[in-house]
Amino acid sequence: MNRPHKVYVKSFGCQMNVYDSHRMADTLVPAGFIETATPQDADLVILNTCHIREKAAEKVYSEIGRIRAVKEEKARNGRPMLIAVAGCVAQAEGAEIMKRARAVDLVVGSQNYHRLPDMVARAQSGERVIDTEFPVEDKFDALAAPAREAIAKRGVTAFVTVQEGCDKFCAFCVVPYTRGAEISRPAAKILAEVERLVEAGVREVTLIGQNVNAYHGAGLDGGDWTLARLLRRLAQVRGLLRLRYTTSHPCDMGEDLIAAHADLAALMPYVHLPAQSGSDRVLAAMNRRHTRADYLKTVERLRQARGDLALSSDFIVGFPGETESDFADTLSLVEEIGFAGAFSFMYSPRPGTPAAEMENQIPAEESNQRLQRLQTAITRVQRTFNARYAGATVQVLLEKPGRLPGQLVGKTPYLQTVQLMAPRNLIGTVHPVVITEIGSNSLFGELADAPALQAMGA
Ligand code: SF4
Repeated sequence: MNRPHKVYVKSFGCQMNVYDSHRMADTLVPAGFIETATPQDADLVILNTCHIREKAAEKVYSEIGRIRAVKEEKARNGRPMLIAVAGCVAQAEGAEIMKRARAVDLVVGSQNYHRLPDMVARAQSGERVIDTEFPVEDKFDALAAPAREAIAKRGVTAFVTVQEGCDKFCAFCVVPYTRGAEISRPAAKILAEVERLVEAGVREVTLIGQNVNAYHGAGLDGGDWTLARLLRRLAQVRGLLRLRYTTSHPCDMGEDLIAAHADLAALMPYVHLPAQSGSDRVLAAMNRRHTRADYLKTVERLRQARGDLALSSDFIVGFPGETESDFADTLSLVEEIGFAGAFSFMYSPRPGTPAAEMENQIPAEESNQRLQRLQTAITRVQRTFNARYAGATVQVLLEKPGRLPGQLVGKTPYLQTVQLMAPRNLIGTVHPVVITEIGSNSLFGELADAPALQAMGA
């Protein structure tokens, strides 16, 4: 390959994968790689896969097929290209991928991204490489820190992984098998990463983890820190305007985390708290370790701490044995909470999980029909939630240019997207915005402090 080498990373699934994709690209910088936006331009294509959604493996194989066509075209033009498969599907089915997809040059499991430069070098010399072992060393320690320019290019919001893996073993989920047991990064490492991001222009950081509120990392004082303790320290970072965290488990929503919502202005009043079902029978079968009443109680405590707190959730419909009455409980939970948004999925069995072996699998047609009904209910409560903000003034972090000239796109504290006309130099700042219109996917508004900004020459 001629220098500079170019890497194209395609990310599927959750924010953890988006974060990992950035870190993979950063880790390849010392090996002479820069990021590119298209596979056609790349010397190395990494598919960072996700195992959560339905038919994940099939989707990976069809994506490999598309990339293989690019690879073959480039080979005809004398420009070799490598294909790598990373992420949860790679972790779970690495050997099978190598067997079935001859175009794949390397497979790297979700815990081994720090070994990529070495793996790529071996693949460049013709070896087909697979590494899906769970390593003994800490991948976060070994991963390269992002360069200042790379951070600035990615915008004013960033994800920071603070925790990985899960010990909960929900009956439908592969994460405990693909990402392994819970581990938490030490607070000092997280603080250093957040400070570096803020210094490069990031204004909002979302702490991420499969089970982020189970965070228990080594604290700056040598003790064990909870997520709340970590948030309190990060809220003191100068220049950091907003903090968020995701994804949480209802059982780990401790008193100190709830209190942090009352105390920390930088901590946004928005919690993604997957419920999965509104039925106690289904929750027990899912091994969720909480009941509907526990969930409602947690929401009540959160709202007591912070009156305007918005909630989002995940739901699975058609879990084995789910009756129409169980499903009605899910619908009623959606109405009762009045979510700001929610993701909903049709249950599909994941090999190796207990639910895949359960009897009473629900026919796809029935699950699909329930999914449509649930999505209608979610859209309705989301619209009701958004409608509350018509005419209101909300604080918006201006994040990036919009599609129209002179337009910017930002986010409210409740993660609603707002489009408005505003000068580009306001990107990265928070401004009061009057909401003038509620669209189906975003809100529209006007800067409330426009006259003051004009007077200041902004
Ligand atoms: S809490 Fe349950 S759904 Fe979430 S990652 Fe762990 S096992 Fe999967």
